[in-house]
Amino acid sequence: MANNKKTKNFIRYMETSEANAIEKKSSNFVEEFIEEDIAAGKVAASPTKMVHTRFPPEPNGYLHIGHAKAICMDFGAAAKYGGQCNLRFDDTNPSREDTEYVDAIKEDIHWLGFDWGDRMYYASDYFQQLWDLAEEMIRRGLAYVDEQSAEVIAEQKGTPTQPGVESPFRNRPAEESLDLFRRMNKGEFEEGTMTLRAKIDMASPNMHFRDPIMYRIIKYPHHRTGTKWQAYPMYDFAHGQSDFLEGITHSICTLEFEVHRPLYEYFAKIFAEIKGTTYTPRQIEFNRLNLTHTVMSKRYLRNMVETGVVRGWDDPRMPTLCGLRRRGYTPQSIRDFITTIGYTKYDALNDIRLLENAVRNDLNKNATRIMGVIDPVKLTITNWPAGKVEMCEMDNNPEQEGSGVHQMPFSGELYIEREDFQEVAEKKFFRLTIDKEVRLKSAYIIKCTGVEKDAEGKITNILCTYDPESKSGMPGADRKVKGTLHWVSAQHAVKAEVRLYNALFMDEEATTESERNPESEVVVENAYIEPFVKEHAEVGNKFQFQRLGYFCIDKDTTTDKLVFNRTVSLKESK
Ligand code: ATP
Ligand code: MG
Repeated sequence: MANNKKTKNFIRYMETSEANAIEKKSSNFVEEFIEEDIAAGKVAASPTKMVHTRFPPEPNGYLHIGHAKAICMDFGAAAKYGGQCNLRFDDTNPSREDTEYVDAIKEDIHWLGFDWGDRMYYASDYFQQLWDLAEEMIRRGLAYVDEQSAEVIAEQKGTPTQPGVESPFRNRPAEESLDLFRRMNKGEFEEGTMTLRAKIDMASPNMHFRDPIMYRIIKYPHHRTGTKWQAYPMYDFAHGQSDFLEGITHSICTLEFEVHRPLYEYFAKIFAEIKGTTYTPRQIEFNRLNLTHTVMSKRYLRNMVETGVVRGWDDPRMPTLCGLRRRGYTPQSIRDFITTIGYTKYDALNDIRLLENAVRNDLNKNATRIMGVIDPVKLTITNWPAGKVEMCEMDNNPEQEGSGVHQMPFSGELYIEREDFQEVAEKKFFRLTIDKEVRLKSAYIIKCTGVEKDAEGKITNILCTYDPESKSGMPGADRKVKGTLHWVSAQHAVKAEVRLYNALFMDEEATTESERNPESEVVVENAYIEPFVKEHAEVGNKFQFQRLGYFCIDKDTTTDKLVFNRTVSLKESK
């Protein structure tokens, strides 16, 4: 039914409108609602006459992957319908904001690929207008100052099945409320002694309508407005009103605000009446992003940073955007992931492997292939001419046409991955073992002839011979062997620290109580990387280490020490 009606509205719009006809291009229910409002002429009648959204972060922490979902929606929907998205810092609560967070939030939104133009605002920009509106509501008998404590007010709220109790101050004269309201702001009363409440309905089945608090006293300087205000608006009386003042057409938020929507609409209507307009913003809710093995609560993330459990807000294990960036995630991969999971009305837990797949797909197309050995064991080619160095050609990226090749030195002393050799091979082990052959990628076929061990029996050197006729790319060198290994030349390789990252929590449905994974970061001090990397060692550069995964250069890299982060392994973990 509802769908039918929507379609009809839409068709009517298509028939009646000549200019600006839109094609139906929605890819989720939020966009369907937007198209419905365009069709009904609501967008054209709004203050900026365009689809106008906003992203409203509270500057009390860094943005995380959950925020990315909201950002892609807010900025994405506006862009899709030729509109605009504002950035609005929700700084209604004076005690928690920090300019460090404001700057980081701006950087992260830009990095994700979105821009708010010259429309960066703070909710505190509207304190005066909100105040005036509150006073007008008092004059109209729609609000009153209550001299009861928050606890008493809460006790009087009732339950969803039982009506609440009206405050004894509910019917006081408007002048009295006005006087007290102004004095609340002058600091004449202590925190918690007085509030401004909307006079709605203490018996409403919607608990949010039971005379909700609009203003409370906070005697803490605000980072932008200082001590000008000592009475501050509550979220419900600030957010929708800010939307209204900015001409927002669609205020898109997460599902927990669904129950606030009737109140949002109630206040919006009053505001429209006071201002003499028919325009009101529309709130639409979608499901928030939850990820397996991940905790997203800002407070918890801040706690991990402050207690030094992680390397900072940008630790590569953090679900923050700066953490993902340091880990090697690309903006494209994050946007692709958000598209994959989509927007619905049902809360769900999304598999972190979808996020990992998104970055794998993107890096597969874009990351340069190099060889790196992260758990090295020496391999000596006994029939290699002493001192000889030969160049081998490696594709930079077989997935990307025109990406070219680079040269990699080969010599008689190499490093290979320790796990690529077994002295006594297990069944189905097709890598190197005694008397068997493998190919060294882009180089020669070698055969193992023996090993050298230290006093503890640990292998220190694998002895091999090579087949001079088998060089990759040479005519007649297409002899097949089962395994192909990556390697580096010992004398030419660059030593590096490699940090291997795994999930921060073992629990799939992680909570703040979950145990942290002791192996969330494994630091390998002595990895060896082919020398090509030296000329490309800028922080943030991304590579595929052949057969191992995707790695990027960490900001801890110095002229003496190269540090890599593993973004993701080459194959999905089980
Ligand atoms: P807190 O409640 O800890 O302050 P928050 O996650 O609500 O954190 P905000 O800065 O208020 O943080 O969020 C800004 C916007 O991002 C809001 O519109 C919010 O709905 C959205 N958002 C936050 N977390 C998620 C999430 N996990 N998935 C989707 N959207 C989110
Ligand atoms: Mg919030």
